[in-house]
Amino acid sequence: MKGNFRLTRVFGIDIYIHSTFLLLLGLFFLLLGLSGLILILGVFFFVTVHELCHSLVAAHFGIKVKRITLLPIGGVASMEQAPTKPYQELLIALAGPLSNVLVLIIFYYPLYFLLGKETLMYPLLVITGQVEYTGQFNVVAYIYWINLVLAAFNMIPAFPMDGGRVLRAILSYRLSYKDATAVAVRLGHIFALLFAYFGIVYGHIFLMIIAVFIYMAASSEGLQVQVTETIKYYTVRDILARHFESVGPDTPVSKVLELMFHTHQEDYPVLEEGRLKGIITRREVIRGMHEGGKEITVGRIMREDIPPVKVTTGLDTARKLMLKYNTHAMPVQKNGKIVGVVTLDDINRVYVVASEGS
Ligand SMILES: [Zn+2]
Repeated sequence: MKGNFRLTRVFGIDIYIHSTFLLLLGLFFLLLGLSGLILILGVFFFVTVHELCHSLVAAHFGIKVKRITLLPIGGVASMEQAPTKPYQELLIALAGPLSNVLVLIIFYYPLYFLLGKETLMYPLLVITGQVEYTGQFNVVAYIYWINLVLAAFNMIPAFPMDGGRVLRAILSYRLSYKDATAVAVRLGHIFALLFAYFGIVYGHIFLMIIAVFIYMAASSEGLQVQVTETIKYYTVRDILARHFESVGPDTPVSKVLELMFHTHQEDYPVLEEGRLKGIITRREVIRGMHEGGKEITVGRIMREDIPPVKVTTGLDTARKLMLKYNTHAMPVQKNGKIVGVVTLDDINRVYVVASEGS
């Protein structure tokens, strides 16, 4: 992803940080000096703990977490698949905010005695607007209360916050997954508009940015579920083209290009004596020609790591596999024979056609 740096690896999960975080580091250093720097690092630390707790519970249910990306307003743990049972989604979603609540409970008395009541409570009063900011800045106290902000913000019962997932999980016991998602998405939109309203009324630019972010993220959650729920009733067989062309490992790329123009097929299984050797898509063709000219052979640029799907594979599964292998096309197998290619475009077309009909 653009703008992300890999920072470290914890429990086998790569942790990426968005470049805006560095911007914040600079900004807070200018505003508050060293304390500002420590404050942002503190926020960063507890956002990481929050995301790791989501990830560890997910791992407990056998869901692999590919990476954690830390954004200034929270983190994202990218999971390889969505939890299948509502209680799994519920527990995964709760784990993050719960970690922040635990920090609040565990450190309350130690900090109370260490800093004194006034210093410890002061940031809370500032955050909730009960006192004016006087310039008193105890960075440890602020970092402590950041956990309250993280827990409270994330428990807003709307997408894309954790609370939205909790809500969907609970609603899923009564409603279909699709309808439960729709409710959480709608609430996400409502909260986004509320945030935007208060942002405009109080001239809070940060609130407006959050509003836009929430609105878009809620929509994207909704769309993803809509697509998955629509295509899961179809299998690869339903959209497989009757005729398909294949190429051999020795075929020069210029020949593939010619085929593309004549057949409008863009992705080809690579066969040798009927056996699958790989797949070549428009992406490899373009890259291959760029690097090796048009006489480079298919065998040198094809993808060999993409397994075939079956004609009976569900389109939702095929789509997930494509995301996993980072490809937009996969070979299709029937009784051990390659019978065609299925592409992401084909699958998306099913969604468009099916949703026009409903
Ligand atoms: Zn979370």
